[in-house]
Amino acid sequence: MKIICIGRNYVAHAHELNNEIPQEPVFFMKPDSSLLRNNDPFYIPEWSKEIHHEIELVIKINRIGKNIEKRFAHRYFDEIGLGIDFTARDIQNKLKEKGLPWEKAKAFDQSAVLGEVFIDKTAFPDQQNISFKLKINGNLVQDGNSKLMIFSFGDIISHVSKYVTLKIGDLIYTGTPAGVGPVKIGDHLEGFLEDKKLLDFMIK
Ligand code: ZN
Repeated sequence: MKIICIGRNYVAHAHELNNEIPQEPVFFMKPDSSLLRNNDPFYIPEWSKEIHHEIELVIKINRIGKNIEKRFAHRYFDEIGLGIDFTARDIQNKLKEKGLPWEKAKAFDQSAVLGEVFIDKTAFPDQQNISFKLKINGNLVQDGNSKLMIFSFGDIISHVSKYVTLKIGDLIYTGTPAGVGPVKIGDHLEGFLEDKKLLDFMIK
């Protein structure tokens, strides 16, 4: 399986990092070795001084597809989950300055936190109104809603599948809302999809 991540999919988040609003989805990938599951602790790597949390809705691809038309995109996923796209912001900023690829900042081990529980999409009456949030040490730091996405799930599936064949079990992290920031040793992170707590783990 592969992990596809969408960048700059929320206007307020693009602005907080001084990025332009994209005209089409920006995507990058993480390898399967980046997954962190079962609410295992995240260990801050020694080579970064600024690991940022990015809470994101995650869709799980349920069939193989290429060049998927937007109107058929809904057939390619049944479940929605929650994840964190951990980002070494200090490294990413250096790479961006030089126009280099982002893998060192985005694809490292444990950088793709994934909640074990996925929710059947039929549980959401409106996929463009799904709320999700991240708390650190009990404080709300990211408060997102899919209505703020620039590109919908359908836009993303359609666009990405022009370039990359989607396969069963692939995960798409659909971008983060505003409020990203650093984590530090001892932090307790809790992620919520609507009112369900799907992530609950420590930074070590
Ligand atoms: Zn992200």
